[in-house]
Amino acid sequence: MTTAASFEKNLTDAKQHLARFKAEPALHLINGEPTASVAGEIFANRSPIDNSHLGDVASGTAHDIDAAAAAARDSSERWRNTPGEQRKRILHNVADAIEARASEIAVLESVDTGQAIRFMSAAALRGAENFRFFADRAPTASDGLALPSAHHLNYTSRRAIGPVGVITPWNTPFMLSTWKIAPALAAGCTVVHKPAEWSPISANVLAEAALEAGLPPGVLNVVHGMGETAGRALTEHPDIAAVAFVGESVTGSLIQTQSAPTLKRLHFELGGKNPVIVFDDADLERAADAVIFMIYSLNGERCTSSSRLLVQRSIHDDFIEALTAKLRRIVVGHPLDPDTVIGPLIHPDHCEKVRSYIELAEAEGATVVAGRPPDASLFAGSLADGSLAKGNLAPRNFVTPMLFSNARNDMRIAQEEIFGPVLTAIAFDSEDEAVALANDTDYGLAAYIWTSDVGRAHRVADALDVGMVWVNSQNVRHLPTPFGGMKRSGIGRDGGDWSFDFYMETKNVAVAYESHTIPKLGG
Ligand code: NAD
Repeated sequence: MTTAASFEKNLTDAKQHLARFKAEPALHLINGEPTASVAGEIFANRSPIDNSHLGDVASGTAHDIDAAAAAARDSSERWRNTPGEQRKRILHNVADAIEARASEIAVLESVDTGQAIRFMSAAALRGAENFRFFADRAPTASDGLALPSAHHLNYTSRRAIGPVGVITPWNTPFMLSTWKIAPALAAGCTVVHKPAEWSPISANVLAEAALEAGLPPGVLNVVHGMGETAGRALTEHPDIAAVAFVGESVTGSLIQTQSAPTLKRLHFELGGKNPVIVFDDADLERAADAVIFMIYSLNGERCTSSSRLLVQRSIHDDFIEALTAKLRRIVVGHPLDPDTVIGPLIHPDHCEKVRSYIELAEAEGATVVAGRPPDASLFAGSLADGSLAKGNLAPRNFVTPMLFSNARNDMRIAQEEIFGPVLTAIAFDSEDEAVALANDTDYGLAAYIWTSDVGRAHRVADALDVGMVWVNSQNVRHLPTPFGGMKRSGIGRDGGDWSFDFYMETKNVAVAYESHTIPKLGG
């Protein structure tokens, strides 16, 4: 299929799948039933493509969270006691259902978030993979250890912690939700999901697919709404035992405070300002491709994006030139176009914030290598018809890839998470300096090291204050490995058994061999 034909097909598919969201508000899903808000409130959902109205969405309050938490609580015992083999079968069915609807999920997600279809197609399938991975582990999730001592046999077992809240952001909402919800369900927890208000649609598709696949009603509930109302009520609810949150670091702090009175277990995946360190002995062609990929894919709206380039001074100019040549060829445009790499940013407010860093970079004394306004031809059409057509793109939502060089690490462009396609480059002279610069940030999510010196790769990886390091690689996820950050980037790890550590309680049972002495008090 030609690119043009493929775009037309994506647009037709998107409109077909959007029709029901236009016709009826997207409702909460509580106890298996589409449910309007108790207060009858709704909010408007808009596409970042042209800011057109995609439909209304139920806006939840504490009353809706009460209903969803009650459904999750009432189905908790039965789901926890459902044999692991059965949970495994059901979760594989959910993965099948996601695969069957993958193209629907991809186009909806693309229109709702502005992320390019080439990435959203892969993300939809990753959602199914997440379910399969954790489904396979459901039968052994409660296994424990035997820890014998001289006079006792100690053994451990695990069981689901209970109903959990899952709160997700807008950047890759479907994939991220499955990454949280699949292990929770595999562990035997029931879930109340509060999706991001800027990209709510795919949460309904996931919950519907799960119900159709045989997940019992009440096991996965969705409540839409604002963070300060629905999100807050979820974090404060006494029936919710734990909250898995993905979002900004400041929101994480708020959630810690909100959930303190009910002593919740918390798991946080927060922001990042991830360094990519390029030494002069690296394979520079591969390094340049990886740097470009890790900051300009997914609109740069990616927690693990390599937003801070630390490059050895001896190769600084050549490397920046190579990056500049590549980024000039990056296609900015309609997210349903298969050629597009950078689509519209999620919201005009967010786009304005991202753009403001150009002025800031100049004011701080860095060099703005790239960041020109998008080509006017993108905006030649009309915004009035809400047709999502090519040409009818919202100028306020688009940026081109930005690159700032000659920056210092103490500048705001080097310290703040911009969450857009913006790369800040800083030169360094020695290995020690590179490590010091990399660690000189409040964040500690991921880092990338490019060098052909094996000893140096290990030394630097060991010295970095981050949860994840990739050496000579872009971010390639292997699901059994731990995912998460240090410092202001998060608390806890996901992936493999780490996910079960969060969603399950561990119990120790000590059984005496009846050989030990029991102190006799009172004769
Ligand atoms: P956000 O913190 O503004 O919102 C995330 C979610 O929290 C939304 O559903 C929102 O409604 C809800 N929320 C907001 N205030 C709340 C409150 N007081 N109580 C409860 N819930 C509340 O984040 P965002 O802007 O949607 O997402 C971007 C952020 O997410 C970036 O900082 C990014 O780095 C981070 N992120 C991190 C990871 C990771 O794995 N570390 C992955 C993706 C995104």
